[in-house]
Amino acid sequence: MRFSRAFICSIKETPKEAVLKSHQYLIRGGFISAQSAGVYDLMPLGKRVIDKIRAIIKEELDKVGCEEVGLGFVTPSELWRESGRFFKYGKELLRFKDRKDGEFVLGPTHEEAMVSLVRGRVSSYKQLPLNLYQINLKFRDEARPRFGLMRGREFLMKDGYSFHGSREDMLREFRLMEETYKRIFRRIGLDFRVVEADSGAIGGSGSKEFMALADAGEDTILRCEKCEYGANAEAAKRVKPTYAPFESDLSGEIATPNIVSIDDLTAFLKIPAYKTVKAIAKKALFDEGEKIAIFFIRGSDELEETKALNAIGANELSDANASDLEAYKIAVGFIGCDFKGEEVLTIVDNELRNETKMVTGANKKDAHIAGVHVGGAHTFADLIAVQDGDLCPVCGAKLARRSGIEIGHIFQLGDRYSKPLNATFLDENGKAKPFIMGTYGIGVSRLIAAVIEANGDEKGCVWNEAIAPYLVDIIVGNVKDEKQSRLAENLYSQLLHEKIETILDDRAVGFGVKMNDFELIGFPYAVIVGKNATDDRAEIVVRKSGERITLNVDQIVERIKESG
Ligand code: ATP
Ligand code: MG
Repeated sequence: MRFSRAFICSIKETPKEAVLKSHQYLIRGGFISAQSAGVYDLMPLGKRVIDKIRAIIKEELDKVGCEEVGLGFVTPSELWRESGRFFKYGKELLRFKDRKDGEFVLGPTHEEAMVSLVRGRVSSYKQLPLNLYQINLKFRDEARPRFGLMRGREFLMKDGYSFHGSREDMLREFRLMEETYKRIFRRIGLDFRVVEADSGAIGGSGSKEFMALADAGEDTILRCEKCEYGANAEAAKRVKPTYAPFESDLSGEIATPNIVSIDDLTAFLKIPAYKTVKAIAKKALFDEGEKIAIFFIRGSDELEETKALNAIGANELSDANASDLEAYKIAVGFIGCDFKGEEVLTIVDNELRNETKMVTGANKKDAHIAGVHVGGAHTFADLIAVQDGDLCPVCGAKLARRSGIEIGHIFQLGDRYSKPLNATFLDENGKAKPFIMGTYGIGVSRLIAAVIEANGDEKGCVWNEAIAPYLVDIIVGNVKDEKQSRLAENLYSQLLHEKIETILDDRAVGFGVKMNDFELIGFPYAVIVGKNATDDRAEIVVRKSGERITLNVDQIVERIKESG
């Protein structure tokens, strides 16, 4: 491709709304163009990168026996009602009607659609296992689409679904997908970790996420400094910390006028925060309506919202304000773990079970109760957010928190969808059974942003050779110089002859502009044909390291082939 002919619209200015470097470089380099909030057009450079990623994904999946299909982007609501997700999925699911009043959704994920494709067509255990995938558009009406391709509303996903006759066989495929995903992400050039994950709205149990390590990541992961353990903060576990014994004579009801925060309480009573019980009240949204939920955790801990959500099986949690709570006779600021009230859910953190001599609210204004034993009659669940420095649940070493970008997610689904959708097969004994399923996703468009976040530098993108839009950018220093142009054209034909993807920057613009574009777009190599063309020499610049090598023009192609 000749730069002078190409639809590459790089710009100097950083768009106001772009805070992350990936978003900035993708717009500035002319890879994508914003269409509306969270919807982007791919321009030729972006299309080339995404097609290369797609090809790698396809190659690795096909190699291990997966088959590609293409499901409709528009899915009938009926299927979503059958699975029970039509309401559960919340506002991210875009629902609409056609002219005949038929109800549809824009697929945010395709479990239902894939089950519907397979049911009735696969009827015997002899036809199993099966692993079908697609690389296709998804739509999620995200509350806060942002960061460019990182969190779009319309985005490209690889989603795969496997069908099995037994749980053992599904687990085998799950492990195979984990290994296959690792190979894919390594080829794309990412540093990543596989972590234990929460299963979210898709349901099922046993899921792992692939996290690209990058400071800009919206997810938090906890990683053991010693062993392999890693988990999303939403699902992370820890060894229960040991707390220094603390003796106190406090007992019974104590007047605590206007003492509503843990800080004030510990200062007032001269006790450590770990001897207090903190109450966090939320509004919880269920299919059948709203309820108040109160979560009790140790005063020195923080609530992990996803764990709280899972503990009560709600669709959504939001903050409850004082008037919400007063309507249920809840003494705001003085809620104690013995609270009982109709229509109010109370959950106590596992680590508080059987703790003694604790201080908690008295469930009336301006009072606390000391010397409380948290007995076994409560509903308990894991509610706490694991912190940096907490201890690994596997080996006891320290855990470290860091940011990650979720690039892939694999789930053990079981019969979560096959059962409600009545998708069955006949086993060896002729008995009808629901398929045991797994599901496997990769955020294909998000991967582009993740690679830039992880590998880009202060000048622009840095692609590895497997996914770069072009491998080589030949920069003609001065297009008016005949010798330079001739040598550059010559190199261009030789590289094309060798099937090396090359772009020839033959524009009549300054050398500085061309170098800036090379660095911003991030081609792995530039070949600069400039002043030393008079001695038949040219210079190779390696984008990643900045290394420069001057060679005779005859050696250039060989050298690129060696490195490529
Ligand atoms: P997140 O927690 O980031 O919202 P998710 O857990 O809801 O993602 P999955 O349902 O697991 O997403 O979808 C599979 C993959 O699709 C994710 O691992 C992620 O890489 C990608 N993905 C999800 N939502 C988006 C989005 N809004 N924009 C771009 N990619 C996305
Ligand atoms: Mg996920």
